[in-house]
Amino acid sequence: MARYSPSVAKLISELGKLPGIGHKSAQRLAFHILSLPSEQVADLAGALTEARESTRLCSVCQNFTDKDPCDICSDTHRDSTTICVVENPRDVATMERMRDYQGQYHVLHGVYSPMQNVGLDQIKLKELITRLQGNPGVREVIIATNQTAEGEATAMYISRLLKPSGIRVTRIASGLPMGSDLEFADDVTLSKAMRARHEF
Ligand SMILES: [Zn+2]
Repeated sequence: MARYSPSVAKLISELGKLPGIGHKSAQRLAFHILSLPSEQVADLAGALTEARESTRLCSVCQNFTDKDPCDICSDTHRDSTTICVVENPRDVATMERMRDYQGQYHVLHGVYSPMQNVGLDQIKLKELITRLQGNPGVREVIIATNQTAEGEATAMYISRLLKPSGIRVTRIASGLPMGSDLEFADDVTLSKAMRARHEF
């Protein structure tokens, strides 16, 4: 095991906490960063801090935003009677890339996953319920959680929860391969899956 100075060891350890970065990649990134001119490292550090400090959650849809409500929630041209529920902010970007969908979103920031100790109170589900209670104009909630076991279980739970409200609850069609994440779907597949959504 290589020994590093405390500051380099700390850099490697922090980078290694990022998703998808193993110890080897963390080492590679750390040495790349150390080889950069100081100004470039300062720019990188500044960009990290600035993005983090200026970003918060939209109080309406819970997506990341630097203004509240976010651009999508405050866009009056969008259809406020339809809300598409997704797992994470990346999924909003994927859906927006498709350009087909004109409704609004709700970001759960995860899915119900008892195996990974993610309870229903740890995702933004309460916020969805409160939002719907305050917006009687919402006619349809489209659940577009990923087609994984956790995504399906979460979709089922939300549909049961909303049933008594009389709101139409639909599930994005399974045109996407089972176990796949929304973000890896191509635009045509995603567009088809949206159009072929079915009622619970
Ligand atoms: Zn929003």
